[in-house]
Amino acid sequence: MQTQMWINGQFTSGASGQTIEVLDPATEELIASVPAGNATDINAAVDAASAAFGSWRRLPAGERTELLHEVARKLTEKAETLAVLLTREGGKPLLENRDEIGWSASCFRYYAEISRNRLGDVIPSIEPSQLNLVLKQPYGVVGAILPWNYPILLMTWKIAPALAAGNTVVIKPSEMTPLSTLACAEIFDHLPPGVVNIVTGYGRGAGEPLVTDPRVRVIAFTGSLETGRHIARLAAEHIKKLHLELGGKDAFIVAEDADLDIAVPGVAWAALLNTGQVCTSTERVYVHDSIARSFIERITEYARGLRLGHGLEDTTDIGPMVGATYRARVEAHVEDARAHGATILAGGKRPIAQERGYFYEPTVLTNVDHSMRIMREETFGPTIPIMTYHSFDEAVQLANDSPFGLGANLYSYNARYVKQFYDEVQAGTLWINDPLTDNDAGPFGGMKMSGMGRELGEEGLDEFRETKHVHWDIRGGSKPWWYPYNRRS
Ligand code: NAD
Repeated sequence: MQTQMWINGQFTSGASGQTIEVLDPATEELIASVPAGNATDINAAVDAASAAFGSWRRLPAGERTELLHEVARKLTEKAETLAVLLTREGGKPLLENRDEIGWSASCFRYYAEISRNRLGDVIPSIEPSQLNLVLKQPYGVVGAILPWNYPILLMTWKIAPALAAGNTVVIKPSEMTPLSTLACAEIFDHLPPGVVNIVTGYGRGAGEPLVTDPRVRVIAFTGSLETGRHIARLAAEHIKKLHLELGGKDAFIVAEDADLDIAVPGVAWAALLNTGQVCTSTERVYVHDSIARSFIERITEYARGLRLGHGLEDTTDIGPMVGATYRARVEAHVEDARAHGATILAGGKRPIAQERGYFYEPTVLTNVDHSMRIMREETFGPTIPIMTYHSFDEAVQLANDSPFGLGANLYSYNARYVKQFYDEVQAGTLWINDPLTDNDAGPFGGMKMSGMGRELGEEGLDEFRETKHVHWDIRGGSKPWWYPYNRRS
Protein backbone atom coordinates (compact mmCIF):
# COMPACT_ATOMS: atom_id res chain seq x y z
CA MET A 1 0.00 0.00 0.00
CA GLN A 2 1.37 3.42 -0.96
CA THR A 3 1.62 5.69 2.11
CA GLN A 4 4.05 8.35 0.90
CA MET A 5 3.27 11.65 -0.79
CA TRP A 6 4.10 12.15 -4.45
CA ILE A 7 5.96 15.33 -5.43
CA ASN A 8 7.77 15.92 -8.73
CA GLY A 9 7.45 12.25 -9.68
CA GLN A 10 9.11 11.08 -6.42
CA PHE A 11 7.71 9.48 -3.29
CA THR A 12 8.49 11.39 -0.10
CA SER A 13 7.65 11.23 3.62
CA GLY A 14 7.51 15.01 3.77
CA ALA A 15 9.18 17.60 5.91
CA SER A 16 7.21 17.49 9.17
CA GLY A 17 7.97 13.92 10.28
CA GLN A 18 4.38 13.84 11.61
CA THR A 19 1.73 11.41 10.44
CA ILE A 20 -2.04 11.04 10.19
CA GLU A 21 -3.73 7.75 11.14
CA VAL A 22 -6.26 6.42 8.66
CA LEU A 23 -8.99 4.27 10.24
CA ASP A 24 -11.47 1.77 8.83
CA PRO A 25 -14.77 3.41 9.84
CA ALA A 26 -16.52 0.01 10.01
CA THR A 27 -14.10 -1.40 12.60
CA GLU A 28 -12.30 1.70 13.96
CA GLU A 29 -9.03 -0.20 13.31
CA LEU A 30 -5.89 1.47 11.98
CA ILE A 31 -5.28 0.79 8.27
CA ALA A 32 -2.13 2.87 7.76
CA SER A 33 -0.49 6.22 8.51
CA VAL A 34 0.36 8.89 5.95
CA PRO A 35 2.51 12.03 6.22
CA ALA A 36 0.96 15.16 7.69
CA GLY A 37 2.23 17.44 4.92
CA ASN A 38 3.01 21.06 5.74
CA ALA A 39 3.91 24.36 4.06
CA THR A 40 7.37 23.07 3.06
CA ASP A 41 5.82 20.12 1.21
CA ILE A 42 3.24 22.36 -0.48
CA ASN A 43 6.04 24.71 -1.52
CA ALA A 44 7.98 21.80 -3.07
CA ALA A 45 4.85 20.57 -4.89
CA VAL A 46 4.05 24.07 -6.23
CA ASP A 47 7.71 24.45 -7.32
CA ALA A 48 7.40 21.19 -9.27
CA ALA A 49 4.01 22.06 -10.76
CA SER A 50 5.26 25.53 -11.79
CA ALA A 51 8.36 24.08 -13.46
CA ALA A 52 6.31 21.46 -15.32
CA PHE A 53 3.69 23.93 -16.58
CA GLY A 54 5.64 25.44 -19.50
CA SER A 55 6.18 22.21 -21.41
CA TRP A 56 2.83 20.65 -20.41
CA ARG A 57 0.84 23.61 -21.78
CA ARG A 58 2.86 23.57 -25.02
CA LEU A 59 2.34 19.84 -25.61
CA PRO A 60 0.14 19.38 -28.70
CA ALA A 61 -3.43 18.66 -27.60
CA GLY A 62 -3.44 15.31 -29.42
CA GLU A 63 -0.48 14.12 -27.33
CA ARG A 64 -2.12 15.23 -24.07
CA THR A 65 -5.21 13.33 -25.19
CA GLU A 66 -3.23 10.10 -25.52
CA LEU A 67 -1.65 10.56 -22.07
CA LEU A 68 -5.07 11.13 -20.48
CA HIS A 69 -6.55 8.07 -22.20
CA GLU A 70 -3.68 6.15 -20.62
CA VAL A 71 -4.79 7.45 -17.20
CA ALA A 72 -8.28 6.09 -17.91
CA ARG A 73 -6.85 2.74 -19.03
CA LYS A 74 -4.73 2.39 -15.87
CA LEU A 75 -7.67 3.39 -13.65
CA THR A 76 -9.76 0.64 -15.24
CA GLU A 77 -6.93 -1.88 -14.84
CA LYS A 78 -6.54 -1.01 -11.14
CA ALA A 79 -10.26 -0.62 -10.47
CA GLU A 80 -10.68 -3.48 -8.02
CA THR A 81 -7.65 -2.56 -5.87
CA LEU A 82 -8.79 1.07 -5.73
CA ALA A 83 -12.40 0.13 -4.95
CA VAL A 84 -11.32 -2.09 -2.04
CA LEU A 85 -9.10 0.70 -0.68
CA LEU A 86 -11.94 3.22 -1.00
CA THR A 87 -14.23 0.86 0.95
CA ARG A 88 -11.68 0.28 3.69
CA GLU A 89 -10.91 3.95 4.31
CA GLY A 90 -14.29 5.53 3.49
CA GLY A 91 -16.84 2.82 4.36
CA LYS A 92 -18.94 2.87 1.15
CA PRO A 93 -20.12 -0.55 -0.08
CA LEU A 94 -17.70 -2.08 -2.60
CA LEU A 95 -20.30 -1.97 -5.36
CA GLU A 96 -20.61 1.82 -5.03
CA ASN A 97 -16.82 2.18 -5.10
CA ARG A 98 -16.51 0.07 -8.24
CA ASP A 99 -18.96 2.52 -9.81
CA GLU A 100 -16.85 5.44 -8.57
CA ILE A 101 -13.76 4.16 -10.39
CA GLY A 102 -15.73 3.39 -13.55
CA TRP A 103 -17.21 6.90 -13.63
CA SER A 104 -13.75 8.41 -13.02
CA ALA A 105 -12.22 6.55 -15.98
CA SER A 106 -15.13 7.67 -18.15
CA CYS A 107 -14.61 11.30 -17.11
CA PHE A 108 -10.88 11.18 -18.05
CA ARG A 109 -11.85 9.82 -21.49
CA TYR A 110 -14.46 12.55 -21.96
CA TYR A 111 -12.02 15.40 -21.21
CA ALA A 112 -9.22 13.71 -23.14
CA GLU A 113 -11.43 14.04 -26.23
CA ILE A 114 -13.30 17.33 -25.86
CA SER A 115 -10.16 19.28 -24.94
CA ARG A 116 -8.79 18.80 -28.44
CA ASN A 117 -11.89 20.23 -30.11
CA ARG A 118 -11.42 23.96 -29.73
CA LEU A 119 -9.04 26.54 -28.29
CA GLY A 120 -11.47 29.43 -28.60
CA ASP A 121 -13.25 31.36 -31.36
CA VAL A 122 -12.61 33.68 -34.24
CA ILE A 123 -15.05 36.59 -33.94
CA PRO A 124 -16.10 39.22 -36.53
CA SER A 125 -13.63 42.11 -36.40
CA ILE A 126 -14.34 45.86 -36.45
CA GLU A 127 -12.03 46.48 -39.44
CA PRO A 128 -11.47 44.49 -42.63
CA SER A 129 -7.72 44.18 -41.96
CA GLN A 130 -8.15 42.90 -38.41
CA LEU A 131 -8.33 39.38 -37.07
CA ASN A 132 -9.97 38.90 -33.66
CA LEU A 133 -9.20 35.74 -31.75
CA VAL A 134 -10.77 34.67 -28.46
CA LEU A 135 -8.26 32.25 -26.92
CA LYS A 136 -8.83 29.85 -24.04
CA GLN A 137 -5.57 29.28 -22.19
CA PRO A 138 -4.58 27.34 -19.06
CA TYR A 139 -4.11 29.29 -15.83
CA GLY A 140 -0.97 27.55 -14.57
CA VAL A 141 -0.92 25.67 -11.27
CA VAL A 142 -4.30 24.46 -9.97
CA GLY A 143 -4.79 23.42 -6.33
CA ALA A 144 -7.43 20.71 -5.85
CA ILE A 145 -8.72 20.34 -2.26
CA LEU A 146 -10.96 17.32 -1.81
CA PRO A 147 -13.49 15.73 0.57
CA TRP A 148 -13.71 12.09 1.69
CA ASN A 149 -17.07 10.98 0.31
CA TYR A 150 -16.02 10.42 -3.36
CA PRO A 151 -12.22 10.86 -3.21
CA ILE A 152 -11.33 9.62 -6.70
CA LEU A 153 -14.40 10.85 -8.57
CA LEU A 154 -14.25 14.38 -7.19
CA MET A 155 -10.49 14.51 -7.77
CA THR A 156 -11.18 13.48 -11.37
CA TRP A 157 -13.91 16.08 -11.93
CA LYS A 158 -11.26 18.71 -11.16
CA ILE A 159 -7.99 17.36 -12.47
CA ALA A 160 -9.21 15.72 -15.70
CA PRO A 161 -10.41 19.07 -17.14
CA ALA A 162 -7.55 21.02 -15.49
CA LEU A 163 -4.88 18.76 -17.05
CA ALA A 164 -6.70 18.52 -20.36
CA ALA A 165 -6.73 22.33 -20.55
CA GLY A 166 -2.93 22.39 -20.02
CA ASN A 167 -2.68 23.21 -16.30
CA THR A 168 -0.56 21.32 -13.78
CA VAL A 169 -2.03 20.29 -10.42
CA VAL A 170 -1.35 19.88 -6.71
CA ILE A 171 -3.89 17.57 -5.05
CA LYS A 172 -4.69 17.75 -1.32
CA PRO A 173 -6.94 14.78 -0.47
CA SER A 174 -9.03 14.62 2.68
CA GLU A 175 -7.10 13.53 5.77
CA MET A 176 -9.80 10.83 6.27
CA THR A 177 -9.30 9.11 2.88
CA PRO A 178 -5.78 9.75 1.51
CA LEU A 179 -4.85 6.13 0.68
CA SER A 180 -6.85 5.69 -2.53
CA THR A 181 -5.50 9.03 -3.80
CA LEU A 182 -1.89 8.06 -3.02
CA ALA A 183 -2.49 4.77 -4.86
CA CYS A 184 -3.22 6.92 -7.93
CA ALA A 185 0.44 8.02 -8.11
CA GLU A 186 0.90 4.83 -10.15
CA ILE A 187 -1.94 5.89 -12.43
CA PHE A 188 -0.21 9.19 -13.18
CA ASP A 189 3.42 8.01 -13.33
CA HIS A 190 3.61 8.11 -17.15
CA LEU A 191 2.99 11.90 -17.08
CA PRO A 192 6.01 14.25 -16.94
CA PRO A 193 7.24 14.79 -13.33
CA GLY A 194 5.50 17.68 -11.58
CA VAL A 195 2.38 17.66 -13.78
CA VAL A 196 0.46 15.92 -10.95
CA ASN A 197 1.54 16.14 -7.30
CA ILE A 198 -0.19 14.70 -4.24
CA VAL A 199 0.33 16.22 -0.77
CA THR A 200 -1.49 14.60 2.17
CA GLY A 201 -2.25 16.58 5.30
CA TYR A 202 -4.79 18.45 7.38
CA GLY A 203 -6.70 21.48 6.18
CA ARG A 204 -4.74 24.03 8.18
CA GLY A 205 -1.31 22.41 7.75
CA ALA A 206 -1.45 21.62 4.02
CA GLY A 207 -4.69 23.10 2.63
CA GLU A 208 -4.10 26.69 3.71
CA PRO A 209 -0.54 27.01 2.32
CA LEU A 210 -1.93 25.77 -1.00
CA VAL A 211 -4.68 28.41 -0.96
CA THR A 212 -2.32 31.23 -0.01
CA ASP A 213 0.57 30.40 -2.39
CA PRO A 214 0.45 33.23 -4.97
CA ARG A 215 1.71 30.88 -7.71
CA VAL A 216 -1.43 28.73 -7.41
CA ARG A 217 -3.80 30.50 -9.77
CA VAL A 218 -6.96 28.44 -9.18
CA ILE A 219 -8.32 26.67 -6.13
CA ALA A 220 -10.88 24.02 -6.98
CA PHE A 221 -12.50 22.96 -3.73
CA THR A 222 -15.19 20.48 -2.77
CA GLY A 223 -16.20 20.34 0.87
CA SER A 224 -18.32 21.96 3.53
CA LEU A 225 -19.83 25.45 3.45
CA GLU A 226 -17.79 26.46 6.49
CA THR A 227 -14.43 25.49 4.93
CA GLY A 228 -15.46 26.97 1.57
CA ARG A 229 -16.20 30.30 3.23
CA HIS A 230 -12.83 30.28 5.01
CA ILE A 231 -10.99 29.45 1.75
CA ALA A 232 -12.86 32.26 -0.05
CA ARG A 233 -11.66 34.75 2.59
CA LEU A 234 -8.03 33.59 2.23
CA ALA A 235 -8.21 33.60 -1.56
CA ALA A 236 -9.67 37.12 -1.68
CA GLU A 237 -6.27 38.48 -0.64
CA HIS A 238 -4.81 37.19 -3.92
CA ILE A 239 -7.92 37.73 -6.12
CA LYS A 240 -7.57 34.02 -6.83
CA LYS A 241 -9.94 32.20 -9.14
CA LEU A 242 -12.17 29.99 -7.01
CA HIS A 243 -14.30 27.05 -7.87
CA LEU A 244 -16.40 26.00 -4.88
CA GLU A 245 -18.59 22.91 -4.63
CA LEU A 246 -20.19 23.06 -1.18
CA GLY A 247 -22.99 21.49 0.82
CA GLY A 248 -26.62 20.84 0.01
CA LYS A 249 -30.05 20.19 1.51
CA ASP A 250 -31.75 18.59 -1.47
CA ALA A 251 -35.53 18.32 -1.61
CA PHE A 252 -37.50 15.41 -3.12
CA ILE A 253 -41.10 16.12 -4.14
CA VAL A 254 -43.38 13.09 -4.54
CA ALA A 255 -46.52 14.16 -6.42
CA GLU A 256 -49.92 12.48 -6.09
CA ASP A 257 -49.53 10.63 -9.42
CA ALA A 258 -46.21 8.98 -8.41
CA ASP A 259 -45.99 5.20 -8.71
CA LEU A 260 -45.15 4.17 -5.14
CA ASP A 261 -43.56 0.88 -6.26
CA ILE A 262 -40.88 3.10 -7.83
CA ALA A 263 -40.99 6.18 -5.58
CA VAL A 264 -40.49 4.31 -2.29
CA PRO A 265 -37.21 2.56 -3.21
CA GLY A 266 -36.15 5.57 -5.35
CA VAL A 267 -36.49 8.10 -2.52
CA ALA A 268 -34.87 5.69 -0.05
CA TRP A 269 -31.88 5.20 -2.37
CA ALA A 270 -31.52 8.96 -2.98
CA ALA A 271 -31.51 9.59 0.79
CA LEU A 272 -29.40 6.62 1.93
CA LEU A 273 -26.81 6.05 -0.82
CA ASN A 274 -23.33 6.18 0.77
CA THR A 275 -25.12 6.31 4.16
CA GLY A 276 -26.60 9.67 3.17
CA GLN A 277 -23.14 11.17 2.71
CA VAL A 278 -23.56 12.43 -0.85
CA CYS A 279 -23.58 16.19 -1.49
CA THR A 280 -26.82 15.61 -3.44
CA SER A 281 -28.35 13.23 -0.88
CA THR A 282 -32.06 13.75 -0.49
CA GLU A 283 -32.35 15.49 2.88
CA ARG A 284 -35.99 16.67 2.78
CA VAL A 285 -39.00 14.78 1.40
CA TYR A 286 -42.32 16.48 0.51
CA VAL A 287 -45.19 14.07 -0.25
CA HIS A 288 -48.67 15.00 -1.49
CA ASP A 289 -51.10 14.49 1.38
CA SER A 290 -53.37 12.16 -0.62
CA ILE A 291 -50.64 9.48 -0.82
CA ALA A 292 -48.67 10.37 2.31
CA ARG A 293 -50.01 7.64 4.57
CA SER A 294 -49.20 4.83 2.19
CA PHE A 295 -45.82 6.33 1.19
CA ILE A 296 -44.76 6.74 4.83
CA GLU A 297 -45.82 3.21 5.82
CA ARG A 298 -44.01 1.68 2.89
CA ILE A 299 -40.76 3.67 3.16
CA THR A 300 -40.60 2.94 6.90
CA GLU A 301 -40.85 -0.78 6.25
CA TYR A 302 -38.35 -0.51 3.38
CA ALA A 303 -35.78 1.37 5.53
CA ARG A 304 -36.11 -1.21 8.31
CA GLY A 305 -35.30 -3.97 5.82
CA LEU A 306 -31.95 -2.58 4.66
CA ARG A 307 -28.81 -4.39 5.83
CA LEU A 308 -25.98 -2.59 7.61
CA GLY A 309 -22.45 -3.96 7.58
CA HIS A 310 -18.87 -3.65 6.43
CA GLY A 311 -18.74 -2.38 2.87
CA LEU A 312 -16.60 -5.35 1.81
CA GLU A 313 -19.41 -7.83 2.67
CA ASP A 314 -21.62 -8.43 -0.32
CA THR A 315 -24.79 -8.55 1.83
CA THR A 316 -24.29 -4.91 2.87
CA ASP A 317 -26.66 -2.20 1.61
CA ILE A 318 -25.52 0.52 4.01
CA GLY A 319 -22.00 0.97 5.38
CA PRO A 320 -20.82 2.99 8.37
CA MET A 321 -20.60 6.75 8.47
CA VAL A 322 -17.07 8.03 7.89
CA GLY A 323 -16.30 9.18 11.43
CA ALA A 324 -17.51 9.87 14.95
CA THR A 325 -18.02 13.64 14.53
CA TYR A 326 -20.17 13.11 11.43
CA ARG A 327 -22.37 10.58 13.26
CA ALA A 328 -22.60 12.93 16.25
CA ARG A 329 -24.04 15.64 13.95
CA VAL A 330 -26.74 13.26 12.67
CA GLU A 331 -27.58 12.28 16.25
CA ALA A 332 -27.83 15.97 17.21
CA HIS A 333 -30.21 16.69 14.30
CA VAL A 334 -32.42 13.68 15.15
CA GLU A 335 -32.47 14.61 18.85
CA ASP A 336 -33.34 18.24 18.03
CA ALA A 337 -36.21 17.04 15.82
CA ARG A 338 -37.45 14.61 18.50
CA ALA A 339 -37.30 17.34 21.16
CA HIS A 340 -39.42 19.62 18.95
CA GLY A 341 -42.15 17.06 18.30
CA ALA A 342 -40.95 14.86 15.42
CA THR A 343 -42.01 11.20 15.30
CA ILE A 344 -39.28 8.64 14.60
CA LEU A 345 -40.76 5.73 12.68
CA ALA A 346 -37.55 3.82 11.91
CA GLY A 347 -33.98 4.01 13.22
CA GLY A 348 -33.06 7.06 15.27
CA LYS A 349 -30.24 5.18 16.96
CA ARG A 350 -27.01 3.22 16.57
CA PRO A 351 -27.57 -0.44 15.63
CA ILE A 352 -27.13 -3.03 18.39
CA ALA A 353 -25.56 -5.61 16.04
CA GLN A 354 -22.54 -3.45 15.16
CA GLU A 355 -20.63 -2.86 18.37
CA ARG A 356 -17.74 -1.11 16.62
CA GLY A 357 -17.72 1.28 13.70
CA TYR A 358 -19.59 4.52 13.09
CA PHE A 359 -22.91 2.93 12.14
CA TYR A 360 -26.29 4.64 12.37
CA GLU A 361 -29.63 3.09 11.44
CA PRO A 362 -31.58 4.43 8.44
CA THR A 363 -34.00 6.83 10.07
CA VAL A 364 -37.49 7.88 8.95
CA LEU A 365 -39.04 10.93 10.62
CA THR A 366 -42.45 12.59 10.30
CA ASN A 367 -44.06 15.60 12.01
CA VAL A 368 -41.02 17.67 11.08
CA ASP A 369 -41.07 21.32 10.00
CA HIS A 370 -38.68 23.98 8.76
CA SER A 371 -37.90 25.28 12.26
CA MET A 372 -35.92 22.08 12.95
CA ARG A 373 -32.20 21.67 12.22
CA ILE A 374 -32.91 18.48 10.28
CA MET A 375 -34.88 20.51 7.71
CA ARG A 376 -32.50 23.48 7.50
CA GLU A 377 -28.85 22.42 8.03
CA GLU A 378 -26.96 19.79 6.07
CA THR A 379 -27.35 16.51 8.03
CA PHE A 380 -25.13 14.34 5.80
CA GLY A 381 -26.37 11.05 7.21
CA PRO A 382 -28.97 8.28 6.71
CA THR A 383 -32.12 10.26 7.48
CA ILE A 384 -35.44 10.60 5.62
CA PRO A 385 -37.47 13.45 7.16
CA ILE A 386 -40.93 13.67 5.54
CA MET A 387 -43.44 16.55 5.34
CA THR A 388 -46.75 16.56 3.49
CA TYR A 389 -48.08 19.24 1.13
CA HIS A 390 -51.42 20.06 -0.46
CA SER A 391 -50.74 22.08 -3.63
CA PHE A 392 -47.79 21.85 -6.02
CA ASP A 393 -47.15 25.60 -5.49
CA GLU A 394 -46.67 24.83 -1.80
CA ALA A 395 -44.25 21.97 -2.59
CA VAL A 396 -42.10 24.26 -4.77
CA GLN A 397 -42.13 26.97 -2.12
CA LEU A 398 -41.02 24.44 0.54
CA ALA A 399 -38.25 23.09 -1.75
CA ASN A 400 -36.94 26.64 -2.27
CA ASP A 401 -37.07 27.51 1.44
CA SER A 402 -33.38 26.68 2.02
CA PRO A 403 -30.08 28.56 1.93
CA PHE A 404 -28.72 25.74 -0.29
CA GLY A 405 -29.43 25.02 -3.97
CA LEU A 406 -27.41 22.01 -5.10
CA GLY A 407 -29.95 19.50 -6.46
CA ALA A 408 -33.65 18.61 -6.30
CA ASN A 409 -35.80 15.63 -7.31
CA LEU A 410 -39.36 15.04 -8.44
CA TYR A 411 -41.49 11.95 -8.98
CA SER A 412 -44.34 12.83 -11.32
CA TYR A 413 -45.56 12.14 -14.85
CA ASN A 414 -47.68 15.32 -14.88
CA ALA A 415 -46.11 17.67 -17.48
CA ARG A 416 -47.51 20.77 -15.78
CA TYR A 417 -45.77 19.86 -12.50
CA VAL A 418 -42.57 18.91 -14.32
CA LYS A 419 -42.38 22.27 -16.10
CA GLN A 420 -43.10 24.25 -12.95
CA PHE A 421 -40.47 22.17 -11.14
CA TYR A 422 -37.66 22.84 -13.60
CA ASP A 423 -38.67 26.48 -14.15
CA GLU A 424 -38.98 27.48 -10.50
CA VAL A 425 -36.89 25.24 -8.24
CA GLN A 426 -33.58 26.93 -7.42
CA ALA A 427 -31.00 24.18 -7.80
CA GLY A 428 -28.10 23.43 -10.14
CA THR A 429 -29.26 19.89 -10.97
CA LEU A 430 -32.87 18.71 -11.29
CA TRP A 431 -33.78 15.05 -11.57
CA ILE A 432 -37.26 14.02 -12.70
CA ASN A 433 -38.17 10.34 -12.17
CA ASP A 434 -34.44 9.43 -12.13
CA PRO A 435 -32.72 10.38 -8.88
CA LEU A 436 -29.01 11.20 -8.63
CA THR A 437 -27.67 10.16 -12.03
CA ASP A 438 -24.52 11.78 -13.46
CA ASN A 439 -23.59 12.60 -17.03
CA ASP A 440 -20.01 13.67 -17.87
CA ALA A 441 -21.36 15.87 -20.69
CA GLY A 442 -23.66 17.96 -18.48
CA PRO A 443 -22.66 20.66 -15.96
CA PHE A 444 -22.88 19.96 -12.23
CA GLY A 445 -22.79 22.54 -9.42
CA GLY A 446 -24.79 24.55 -6.98
CA MET A 447 -26.87 27.71 -6.66
CA LYS A 448 -27.12 29.92 -3.57
CA MET A 449 -24.82 28.72 -0.75
CA SER A 450 -24.06 25.43 -2.48
CA GLY A 451 -21.19 27.07 -4.33
CA MET A 452 -20.02 28.72 -7.50
CA GLY A 453 -18.75 27.37 -10.80
CA ARG A 454 -19.65 24.15 -12.59
CA GLU A 455 -17.91 20.80 -12.94
CA LEU A 456 -18.31 18.43 -15.90
CA GLY A 457 -19.39 19.25 -19.43
CA GLU A 458 -17.81 21.99 -21.52
CA GLU A 459 -18.41 24.44 -18.66
CA GLY A 460 -16.24 22.24 -16.45
CA LEU A 461 -13.36 22.58 -18.93
CA ASP A 462 -13.78 26.35 -19.16
CA GLU A 463 -13.41 26.66 -15.36
CA PHE A 464 -9.73 25.84 -15.96
CA ARG A 465 -9.18 28.07 -19.00
CA GLU A 466 -8.67 31.81 -18.99
CA THR A 467 -10.05 33.90 -21.82
CA LYS A 468 -7.78 36.16 -23.83
CA HIS A 469 -8.96 38.46 -26.64
CA VAL A 470 -6.40 39.11 -29.40
CA HIS A 471 -6.88 42.10 -31.74
CA TRP A 472 -4.48 41.69 -34.69
CA ASP A 473 -4.36 44.22 -37.52
CA ILE A 474 -2.57 42.21 -40.15
CA ARG A 475 -1.91 45.18 -42.47
CA GLY A 476 -1.00 47.68 -39.69
CA GLY A 477 -0.68 51.41 -40.52
CA SER A 478 -1.89 54.61 -38.86
CA LYS A 479 -5.50 55.17 -37.89
CA PRO A 480 -7.66 58.20 -38.63
CA TRP A 481 -8.91 58.41 -34.99
CA TRP A 482 -5.42 59.12 -33.53
CA TYR A 483 -4.07 62.62 -32.68
CA PRO A 484 -4.14 65.35 -33.75
CA TYR A 485 -7.92 65.61 -33.31
CA ASN A 486 -8.15 68.75 -35.45
CA ARG A 487 -7.61 66.46 -38.45
CA ARG A 488 -11.05 64.97 -37.71
CA SER A 489 -13.96 67.18 -38.45
P1 NAD B 1 -14.43 19.67 4.78
O1 NAD B 1 -14.80 21.05 4.41
O2 NAD B 1 -14.31 19.33 6.22
O3 NAD B 1 -13.04 19.24 4.11
C1 NAD B 1 -12.83 19.27 2.72
C2 NAD B 1 -11.34 19.46 2.43
O4 NAD B 1 -10.95 20.75 2.86
C3 NAD B 1 -10.43 18.46 3.15
O5 NAD B 1 -9.39 18.07 2.28
C4 NAD B 1 -9.89 19.29 4.30
O6 NAD B 1 -8.62 18.86 4.77
C5 NAD B 1 -9.76 20.65 3.63
N1 NAD B 1 -9.72 21.78 4.58
C6 NAD B 1 -10.27 21.85 5.81
N2 NAD B 1 -9.97 23.04 6.38
C7 NAD B 1 -9.22 23.73 5.48
C8 NAD B 1 -8.60 25.02 5.49
N3 NAD B 1 -8.67 25.81 6.55
N4 NAD B 1 -7.92 25.41 4.39
C9 NAD B 1 -7.82 24.60 3.30
N5 NAD B 1 -8.37 23.36 3.26
C10 NAD B 1 -9.07 22.93 4.32
O7 NAD B 1 -15.52 18.72 4.06
P2 NAD B 1 -15.68 17.15 4.20
O8 NAD B 1 -16.27 16.82 5.53
O9 NAD B 1 -14.43 16.48 3.78
O10 NAD B 1 -16.76 16.84 3.05
C11 NAD B 1 -18.14 16.88 3.28
C12 NAD B 1 -18.73 18.14 2.70
O11 NAD B 1 -18.43 18.21 1.32
C13 NAD B 1 -20.24 18.19 2.79
O12 NAD B 1 -20.64 19.48 3.20
C14 NAD B 1 -20.69 17.93 1.35
O13 NAD B 1 -21.95 18.45 1.01
C15 NAD B 1 -19.60 18.57 0.58
N6 NAD B 1 -19.54 18.02 -0.77
C16 NAD B 1 -19.96 18.81 -1.81
C17 NAD B 1 -19.96 18.30 -3.11
C18 NAD B 1 -20.41 19.14 -4.26
O14 NAD B 1 -20.14 18.76 -5.41
N7 NAD B 1 -21.07 20.27 -4.05
C19 NAD B 1 -19.53 16.99 -3.34
C20 NAD B 1 -19.12 16.22 -2.25
C21 NAD B 1 -19.11 16.75 -0.96
